[in-house]
Amino acid sequence: MAHVIEAAKTGRASCRTCKSPIAKGELRFGEEVPNAFAPGEMTYFWHHLGCAAKKKPAALKQALETTEQDIPNKEELLQTIDASAKTEKPTTFPYAEHAPTSRSSCVECGEKIEKGELRVAIEQEISTGGFSRRGAGYLHPGCVAEHTDGDSEELYSKIKANSLNLNSSELQALQAQMQ
Ligand SMILES: [Zn+2]
Ligand SMILES: [Zn+2]
Repeated sequence: MAHVIEAAKTGRASCRTCKSPIAKGELRFGEEVPNAFAPGEMTYFWHHLGCAAKKKPAALKQALETTEQDIPNKEELLQTIDASAKTEKPTTFPYAEHAPTSRSSCVECGEKIEKGELRVAIEQEISTGGFSRRGAGYLHPGCVAEHTDGDSEELYSKIKANSLNLNSSELQALQAQMQ
């Protein structure tokens, strides 16, 4: 599975972004997410294409690049994606960003990540009081290789796809720090 774009098969799904229904036959974006009710399985969160361009720019961009659907307003969607990618915080793991505060610590070395420094966000199990849930964990780029047992190349390509908030020189700096 991966993110999809398809014509809605029924009119029963609501958009996760604006909460209003998605009409039957209308093109919709399916964001692939872990199924909270069936561990290990995946499911889709549906969005209107226009809503996804604003709230899920990186994921929609990936889907637009791979879909075989004819998307009449593709150019317009790509423009919205570019505009919103600069202001929206990435929501799909793994991604990279400038740390907005100095409050996070690296899950690998335990040291503080300074405000403004590039940090890598990954999804991990967090256990609190016997319950475990999925949440964000942060890494210094330089700690990624250690954390992934040397598989930082693969992680970098995923980060690049998810981090439309970073420009190409920021991405280059990140890649260099990750090695
Ligand atoms: Zn919507
Ligand atoms: Zn670290």
